[in-house]
Amino acid sequence: HLAVNGIHAKYGSLDVLHGISFDVDRGEVVSLVGPSGSGKSTVLRTLVGLTPVTGGGIEVDGTSIDYRSSRSVRAARDRMAIVFQQYNLFQNMSVLGNVTLAPRRVKGRKRQEVEAEAMDLLDLVGMAHKAHAYPDELSGGQQQRVAIARALALRPEILLLDEVTSALDPELVNEVLDAVRRLAAEGMTMLLVSHEMAFVREVSSKVVFMDQGKVIEAAPPAKIFDAPDSERARDFFGKVL
Ligand code: ATP
Ligand code: MG
Repeated sequence: HLAVNGIHAKYGSLDVLHGISFDVDRGEVVSLVGPSGSGKSTVLRTLVGLTPVTGGGIEVDGTSIDYRSSRSVRAARDRMAIVFQQYNLFQNMSVLGNVTLAPRRVKGRKRQEVEAEAMDLLDLVGMAHKAHAYPDELSGGQQQRVAIARALALRPEILLLDEVTSALDPELVNEVLDAVRRLAAEGMTMLLVSHEMAFVREVSSKVVFMDQGKVIEAAPPAKIFDAPDSERARDFFGKVL
């Protein structure tokens, strides 16, 4: 269970999050949607300690994360993995090398065991057949699926996905969405930012609509898409659907 409790964040002197609150329960898929610049990526960045939280707090399973303590941030990063829009695979390593890199560094783990687990993850995202290929031999959608498998390799409790399809050609979007669908079906807890509204509607248990660094409305997809309470949500969904 992830609880985001009234967090604030700023870049320099610019306040960008003004008290954001929402919850993600185990096994839930929650989507953050809203206009460009509303602070969606910043929320994900604060969760993994990439952007400092200047007020409010974040709890994982009832334990609050102290973002001033590097030990606490490391513990948070063990529990949450993030995948960005731009897949940043290590080009000089095979697909399997990319996915096994982090778990191999965890002391005392046998190579065979780590590789077997990595193959299972690659299978889950439909990339097992390319385990020995190098990133430059893959399409963008394939690379993004490997990036998701790599994020899962340390067994995070929550997967954070920030517009993982928006750098892809349209015909490659669906293969990545399929991988995310499969993860959702497996019960993976996810917090995602996406502009693919049909997909958001399909996979989310809850949609959090943000504007200008605030949560305007949070509700199940059918409610927020079809009958939002707020004028701003009505306006936004009216334009994007
Ligand atoms: P998009 O849909 O375009 O990805 P977003 O909702 O993810 O937008 P953020 O990237 O979180 O929005 O940005 C929130 C605000 O913070 C914006 O006003 C943006 O200009 C500002 N911002 C983001 N990153 C930085 C940065 N590194 N330095 C300064 N300001 C930033
Ligand atoms: Mg963003």
